[in-house]
Amino acid sequence: MSEKANIGVVGLAVMGSNLARNLASREGNKVAVYNRSVERTNLLVAEHPEANFIAAETIDDFVASLQKPRTAIIMVQAGAGTDAVINQLAERFEEGDIIVDGGNALFTDTLRREKEVSAKGLHFVGAGISGGEEGALKGPSIMPGGSAESYKTLGPILSSIAAIAEGEPCVTHVGTDGAGHFVKMIHNGIEYADMQLIAEAYDILRQAGSFSPSEIADIFSEWNKGELESYLIEITAEVLKQVDAKTGKPFVDIVLDQAGSKGTGVWTVQTALNLGTPVSGIAEAVFARSLSSQAAQRNGAPQLATGTTAWKIEDKKAFVEDVRKALYASKIVAYAQGFDAIRAGAKEYNWNINLGNVAKIWRGGCIIRAQFLNRISDAYGKNENLLSLLFDEYFQKAIDSSVSSWRSVVAHSSLAGIPNPAFASSLSYFDGLRAERLPAALVQGQRDFFGAHTYKRVDLDGVFHTLWSGDRSEIETTPSSH
Ligand code: NAP
Repeated sequence: MSEKANIGVVGLAVMGSNLARNLASREGNKVAVYNRSVERTNLLVAEHPEANFIAAETIDDFVASLQKPRTAIIMVQAGAGTDAVINQLAERFEEGDIIVDGGNALFTDTLRREKEVSAKGLHFVGAGISGGEEGALKGPSIMPGGSAESYKTLGPILSSIAAIAEGEPCVTHVGTDGAGHFVKMIHNGIEYADMQLIAEAYDILRQAGSFSPSEIADIFSEWNKGELESYLIEITAEVLKQVDAKTGKPFVDIVLDQAGSKGTGVWTVQTALNLGTPVSGIAEAVFARSLSSQAAQRNGAPQLATGTTAWKIEDKKAFVEDVRKALYASKIVAYAQGFDAIRAGAKEYNWNINLGNVAKIWRGGCIIRAQFLNRISDAYGKNENLLSLLFDEYFQKAIDSSVSSWRSVVAHSSLAGIPNPAFASSLSYFDGLRAERLPAALVQGQRDFFGAHTYKRVDLDGVFHTLWSGDRSEIETTPSSH
């Protein structure tokens, strides 16, 4: 073999073949391609004869076609498929070579794999890649973890294929080992929350405002010119404009109202529960999809009492603006919670994650790309240790000017019986954060009563337990070693 490849891709289904084509289209890249079943490899090469590929029929040929340090990106089915390919490569690679998993792996799998692979003297990089098949081909947002040393080789290659936002490639070395896949997971969780919030705004506009889907499409297009400008708002307008060719009805009305999920939202919530970091907007979004899919229960529910109060809307323009502000404020909360979860993960797993840079690489290529990420990046740029996005001056002002609309929309929706779980939970989170006293004090009392779980006092140091049995009028507290 004369000229070797500087990068290789294993797994040539939708994502892998598009990523390989993207890599091959960039100056200086020669791309080795390999797939377990050779038909996919042959098809890719036949359909793109102009591409700078070296096609390998066997894993041995693939490894032999790579220049050192060998660098291979795995784009196969997450789980057992990924482990199988990692093992095949790890058996053949040599010290300093780099194995990249570009699939949607759970970050704890990445932590395990990194340990196993690096014990053999190889580098293992879990890289979150967002943007679906179009992103893979034209420029995704890339979130690589792994060692800083491997990023020296990998960084320029990934920069060459990443989306560009405001002149900067949407890739950064997120942190070591599983940090990349962790951040990708949170990205997907935020995506769930953002989609649910937009869906709730649509539902309120439709049910309370009696706007048609095409009118709501126009409202979203208008919103897309302002602070809500984002890919998700843009495509929502497109979906709402769509008319079903068969029936002539709005497309949204002929689709079964049961939303599925692939698991990254669930992973985000499970992880956040373990870390003790509230991601209530994301959780509500995941649960809203679960509820939508509980067809039998939903069929049995219409006879339940309503007790609703009609929402009388006198000024439609003002109503639309209220919904826009409620959406924006709720969205700020969802992102604040997502970034808090990244910080909590970074603390737990010893990652040095620059939150401002994470916001920057989400500005292009990925599903949650939005103007507003510039503001998040600015906020963390100004203050790396910002306790919550909600404390940044820009976001404080945004919430200040939205809060009365937000309350009005949540209250009226609830009175009218329009489900608004993500709007309402975001507002509750905000109120919980700003409350001077929370009823958590009472919960602590309950816990101490039935389980001797102890509590701390507002006026004394130490840990206390009340002797609840006996004469309760005389509360005895004792410093406790619990
Ligand atoms: P996929 O349908 O998830 O997986 C199919 C690929 O995996 C095929 O190339 C298949 O090879 C290979 N494979 C499965 N088991 C294998 C094994 N034991 N050994 C070797 N190869 C094996 O493909 P995809 O949709 O292109 O996604 C690839 C990865 O990117 C996944 O981790 C996915 O989660 C992630 N991802 C996907 C998207 C998306 O929008 N689709 C977005 C972001 C990330 P054969 O052809 O031989 O069966």
